[in-house]
Amino acid sequence: MSDHPGTDLKHDPTAGIAELADRCVMCGLCLPHCPTYALDASEAESPRGRIRLARALAEDPPRIDTGLRLHLDSCLGCLQCERVCPSQVQYGEILVRTRALIGPAPNRPTWLLGVLKRPLPATLLLAAARALHLRTWLPSLLRTALPKRTTALQVALAWLGPRPRARARPPEPRSEGRRHVALFPGCIASIEDAAALQAAQDLLQAAGFSVQRLAATCCGALDLHDGATAQATRAANRLQAACRNLPADTPVLTATPGCLGTLRRQLPHLRIEDATGYLARHGTRLQFRALGERVAVHLPCTSRNVSRDSQDVLALLRLVPGLSVLEVPESPGCCGAAGSHALQFPAQARRLRAQVLRHVADLAADRLLSSNIGCRLHLSAGNRSLPTEHPLTLLARQLEPRSAP
Ligand code: SF4
Ligand code: SF4
Repeated sequence: MSDHPGTDLKHDPTAGIAELADRCVMCGLCLPHCPTYALDASEAESPRGRIRLARALAEDPPRIDTGLRLHLDSCLGCLQCERVCPSQVQYGEILVRTRALIGPAPNRPTWLLGVLKRPLPATLLLAAARALHLRTWLPSLLRTALPKRTTALQVALAWLGPRPRARARPPEPRSEGRRHVALFPGCIASIEDAAALQAAQDLLQAAGFSVQRLAATCCGALDLHDGATAQATRAANRLQAACRNLPADTPVLTATPGCLGTLRRQLPHLRIEDATGYLARHGTRLQFRALGERVAVHLPCTSRNVSRDSQDVLALLRLVPGLSVLEVPESPGCCGAAGSHALQFPAQARRLRAQVLRHVADLAADRLLSSNIGCRLHLSAGNRSLPTEHPLTLLARQLEPRSAP
C-alpha cells in the first residue's frame, strides 16, 4: 500500500493519521469508484466517510465502538479511491494505520487465517480435505450441519476444489550471462497456486533468466491489512530473513499480486515486481502455440491500483495466436475477495462477486483468467462450471518448446 516500513506500526499506530487525513479535501471524486459505496450509496461506506472516521478515531481512540469501526472493517482495501484521487491522498496508509490502532475486527477468523498463512499446516489440511473427498458431501454440510457462527469456515470450504497439480521442478542452474531473478512463493499461494509458480519459473527461464526460488513464507499482508500488528511484524522479520542474502539488483517477483504492496513495504531496499508484468516487459520474444479460445481476463485490484500494470497481462496473452483476449469490465472495482474480507463479510463479498460474474457471462468466454489466487477461489466458488486459472499457466502450456529470448 505504501513505502513506509511496516515495523513502525508497533510503536505508535496513530502517528501521522491526522496529517494523512488532512490531505483529503472532501471533494467526493472518489465516491463513484468505491465498490462499497456503490452497493448502498452510504457516505459512511465511502472513502471520504472512512477518512473522516479515521481522523476522529485517531484523535479520540475511546470513541471506537462496534458500530463505528464496522465501516472501517468493511473496507475492501482495494485502493480504487487512492488511484483516482486528484489530491493524492494515501488512503491505503490511512487504512493500515487506523486498523493498527483499532486492532483486528471482532469477526476475524484468526484461527483459520493462522492455518492458511503457514505452508505446512495448510498443506496437511488441504491434503486431508482431498483425501476425504470433501466436495462430494460438502454441499449438504454447508446447507445444514454448520452453525451460523462458522460462516468463515463455510466460505473457506466452498473455495476447496480440484486444482492443477504441479510438482515443483528445480530451477535450472545459474549460468554466466543469464540475468538473475528471485521468485517469492508466498504462503497459501505456494500450495494452492503451485502451478502458477512453476509456470512463472518456466516462462522466465524460457525468456533467458536464471530463477532462484525463495523460501515459502507469509509476506504479512493479511495481518497488516487486518490490523494484527504484532503478527505482521513477525511476518516481516521472517520475510527479511528469507531475503537477507539477495543482492539489491536482483528483482524479486511474485506470481500473486496480492503480496506485492506488502513486499514493497517490508523490503524497501529490493525491487519487487509482479511476475506477469515483468514477463510482459522482458518476454516479448517468447513464442506460443496457437489456441482458438475466448478468455475473460479479470484484472485484480492490486494489478490496477498497486502495480498499475494491469494492461501488461493482456499484452502478454495477445502473443498467443488465435486467442481472443477479453478484459472483464472494471466495475464494480473489486470482486469481494479482498484478502480476508470474503471470510468476514460474505454477504457483501457475494454481492460484488455476482456483478463480476455477470460481466464474465456477457463475454461468453471459454475460460476465466485471474492472477490473484484469492480472486480466483472466490470467483470460481460462484461459478463452478467455468474453468479458471492463472494467466501464466495458460501461457506456459502454450509455450513453444524452442521459444528463445
Ligand atoms: S480521498 Fe481524494 S478524491 Fe476522495 S474525497 Fe478525499 S480528496 Fe477527494
Ligand atoms: S479502498 Fe476500496 S472499498 Fe475501501 S474506501 Fe477505497 S475504494 Fe472504497
